[in-house]
Amino acid sequence: MTERFVVVGAGTMGLGIAYVAAEAGHLVELVEVDRARGDAAVARLAQLWEGAVRRGKATAEQATASRQRVTLRAGLAEVAAEPDVIVEAVPERLDLKRAVLIEAEALRPLLLGSNTSSIPITELADGLTRPERFCGLHFFNPVWAMTLLEIVVGPATAAETTDAARTLAARLGKDPVVVRDMPGFATSRLGVALGLEAIRMVADGVASPADIDKAMALGYRHPVGPLELTDLVGLDVRLDIARTLQAAYGDRFAPPSLLVEMVAAGRLGKKSGQGFYSWADGVRAGGIESPEPGAVR
Ligand code: NAD
Repeated sequence: MTERFVVVGAGTMGLGIAYVAAEAGHLVELVEVDRARGDAAVARLAQLWEGAVRRGKATAEQATASRQRVTLRAGLAEVAAEPDVIVEAVPERLDLKRAVLIEAEALRPLLLGSNTSSIPITELADGLTRPERFCGLHFFNPVWAMTLLEIVVGPATAAETTDAARTLAARLGKDPVVVRDMPGFATSRLGVALGLEAIRMVADGVASPADIDKAMALGYRHPVGPLELTDLVGLDVRLDIARTLQAAYGDRFAPPSLLVEMVAAGRLGKKSGQGFYSWADGVRAGGIESPEPGAVR
């Protein structure tokens, strides 16, 4: 069954969610307020489908059909009422997300989800008139490759909404976990703890980012080390999450100064071409050297 699927925010996650939803046959409206980012997302989606054709994962006709199912919108005001699903994927800031969710709810979707990585959905639901239709729909990056969907249910989330989220997961080829509403849920709380400690280790000069990542890959069987993962997620995104978790759990989640400094310098990871590694055409190139112990705290 084709559904009307609205994704708000065409950044790293929004474009990934739009990709899998269009692949699954849904009609996708991708809402992005920043014109240049919207155009870049559409170009990136075209590239992804070209790649799928090259690798024999889709025929040219299938790729064209998927691409044509995605329409870029400059704002929620351009979206017709009563879509089946709206997923909010704007930056990890409470006020911004609340404002977007209130505007999205006015369109009366059957299911309203937030892709938040860490903000309790109870806080996000403040201001909604139908919080029973709302839950966390936490996809992982890159969305087309990662099968997990973390469904976050708050006290107000109706059982039917959780069921609808499970059905959605199945239709998008995702494997869900259902998690109680706590800051950082079941994933970010643990993943970010590891990432922040790895950054402190770089600042302490314990080893280079490449060697810290290699140690976790070979010693603990992590498919991607915590610093490369931070580059993939985006240092700015991780900083926002760390601040949310610090407010909830205290200073064990205080962002290390190195992270704050790198974000201020525009070193955001893969998306900016430089983070703990340098990136060329989306591929990891060199790693940064570890600073002298104690040089950056
Ligand atoms: P991003 O910064 O790459 O993209 C966010 C996009 O939202 C930007 O293009 C921005 O212009 C747009 N935007 C801002 N306000 C808007 C509005 N009012 N209407 C429409 N678009 C608007 O961020 P991201 O990495 O895609 O993260 C989005 C959300 O997903 C965050 O809550 C983040 O915590 C979560 N998340 C991120 C990752 C990751 O690996 N990056 C993984 C899981 C979850």
